[in-house]
Amino acid sequence: MSRQPPRRGLAERAAEFAREWSVPRQLRGADHRREAAEAAISRTLRPRLEEADRVGTSICPYCAVGCAQLIYARDGRPIHVEGDPRSPVNQGTLCPKGAATFGLMTSPMRLDRCLHRVPGATAWREVTLDWAMDRIAHLVRRTRDETFVKDLPDGTPLNHTLGIASMGGATLDNEENYLIKKLFSGGLGMVFVENQARV
Ligand code: SF4
Repeated sequence: MSRQPPRRGLAERAAEFAREWSVPRQLRGADHRREAAEAAISRTLRPRLEEADRVGTSICPYCAVGCAQLIYARDGRPIHVEGDPRSPVNQGTLCPKGAATFGLMTSPMRLDRCLHRVPGATAWREVTLDWAMDRIAHLVRRTRDETFVKDLPDGTPLNHTLGIASMGGATLDNEENYLIKKLFSGGLGMVFVENQARV
């Protein structure tokens, strides 16, 4: 035959209530949202920022809003990215894309050198930035000269090329877009000048 646990008296239950329940604990001044809800392991955790030995500033590379960032680094390597609270643009905040900048900076898949694939080849080869810039300038000039149309058959002036197009990134600011438009449309006669922000 099972034995029933002894019935507790009113005084004992009141003492337990005062000791364990959240309202009396809060009335006594104990913050029930902190210690009572804290896991033991969380007491051993420290913010990543504490490990930084240097903080630099940067601008989010993703869009033209231009949110300011703080880049925390240790031993010359970034360990964390946050919004800069001093910026009137973002006031310390970052959207999910900007908050993921740390992954962009440190991803092993990020290309940090120029690669070139010869027409018809299946493999990429590494080239210098100077070589890549000369190659681009050469091809732009050659294509422009080959496809430039000065006049229509009836003599109407055109001065344009449909052989080259430009797609700008969303981080380009007003001044950069102004120069791009001047060079590509006014200088080279390109018609197709677009920007990611409009797509
Ligand atoms: S992508 Fe987000 S964090 Fe980056 S500049 Fe634009 S709004 Fe700001």
